[in-house]
Amino acid sequence: VSERVLVVGAGVAGLTAAVRLARAGRQVIVLARGVGATHLAPATIDVLGFAPEPVADPRDAYEAFARAQPGHPYARVPLAELEAALEWLRELTDGGYVGELVRNRLTPSALGALRPSALVPATMADGDLADGGRVLVVGFAPLKDLHAALAAANLELAGEGRIAARAVVLHTSPLPDADVGTLRYARALDDDPAFRTRLGDELGEHVAPGERVGLPALLGLRNAPAVLEELRQRLGAPVFEIPTLPPSLPGMRLYEALTSALRGAGGRLVVGNPVVGAETGGGRVRALLVETAGRERRFACERVVLASGGVAAGGVELDSRGALRETVLGLPLANAPEPEDLRFSPRFLDEQPLDRVGVAVDEALRPLDADGRLVYANVHVAGALLAGARPWRERSGEGISLGSGYRAASVAIEEAA
Ligand SMILES: Cc1cc2nc3c(=O)[nH]c(=O)nc-3n(C[C@H](O)[C@H](O)[C@H](O)COP(=O)(O)OP(=O)(O)OC[C@H]3O[C@@H](n4cnc5c(N)ncnc54)[C@H](O)[C@@H]3O)c2cc1C
Repeated sequence: VSERVLVVGAGVAGLTAAVRLARAGRQVIVLARGVGATHLAPATIDVLGFAPEPVADPRDAYEAFARAQPGHPYARVPLAELEAALEWLRELTDGGYVGELVRNRLTPSALGALRPSALVPATMADGDLADGGRVLVVGFAPLKDLHAALAAANLELAGEGRIAARAVVLHTSPLPDADVGTLRYARALDDDPAFRTRLGDELGEHVAPGERVGLPALLGLRNAPAVLEELRQRLGAPVFEIPTLPPSLPGMRLYEALTSALRGAGGRLVVGNPVVGAETGGGRVRALLVETAGRERRFACERVVLASGGVAAGGVELDSRGALRETVLGLPLANAPEPEDLRFSPRFLDEQPLDRVGVAVDEALRPLDADGRLVYANVHVAGALLAGARPWRERSGEGISLGSGYRAASVAIEEAA
């Protein structure tokens, strides 16, 4: 009988590990309280954008960056594994991601900043403005989740003279006289050819020669590649998506790609209840306990991949007295500030006291205590729960989650062999 692995967390880290382990023949069950950051974040794979100076070539910068910070998650993910992880994601999504580690693409954020990413969803590929360009940013009057004029103005600032951007606001809507969210637009574009035609026609009146067209990320949920291609043909111009406020359609597409790969490989996904504890013995986790309505359910296991995210996802909790707790196994947390040092900096992108909090791990991503001793031999930690990163400043969040999720599966497979 193959090894039974429980993966806690349904974000990029947990699902990456889960798909690889299921494909390697393990019995995999993913246990998650809810969906992860995929449904909120832009779904670009940002490996390293600032170190702290802007990074143009993350591959070149990676090893020196990891060496200089032995407590950083990247110090536990060899470069070759990270490259393999990126390649793996390109294949898994069947061309749904483009890019490479040797060059950061600079694509617009919802606010018109340029985000450095190693991989971007293929729907964002034409938004790479590293070499400048002319952009038409398209907003929709009924959609409040992308402010086209603001994004265009900020893009010009970010481009330092190399980007010419202007905005247009269309009234095209799948639902007259109402505010409409991205999901509603996406469904109409997926299912209604007449709506696609109408959008293309109305947009076509505004596009000037030489411009590329940036739309809010709403070009379909199931059929995004086809919707994008149809618009490109109709407009005769490059078209790309710009991430919006949540929900993130590109992230939902990524979640769909990962979870359907998991199901295809025979893995199970149980979303909706938190893991609240474990049975342990002999330095190993024997079972995880899940809180369900009315009772606790027990899942026996031979191995655990813990990818329950950071404070934002509930993997780490902060109580009213300032005490921090890892919520699944009660693992020791490294870099935890003293309660009196828990003052948050008013500037969001400053280093915050909780940024680097997380679980310290050994080479095999197994949890360590404050003295560097192994806590559980059959647990591997991945993703935003790992200690030592400052993902917002580094622009490294998804790179850490993808790379360490991939790595966790590699070490689990090697060990079992
Ligand atoms: C709004 C937003 C924007 C972002 N923008 C960027 C960006 O531009 N670039 C970038 O690189 N990164 C960005 N990030 C960060 C990046 O998305 C995350 O670092 C990364 O996706 C984390 O993935 P993960 O799999 O480690 O954890 P998560 O995606 O957080 O998943 C954690 C999972 O664990 C589950 N869980 C937690 N506790 C328990 C429990 N006790 N029992 C069971 N399940 C549990 C959660 O329900 C969830 O399924 C952004 C994040 C957010 C929220």
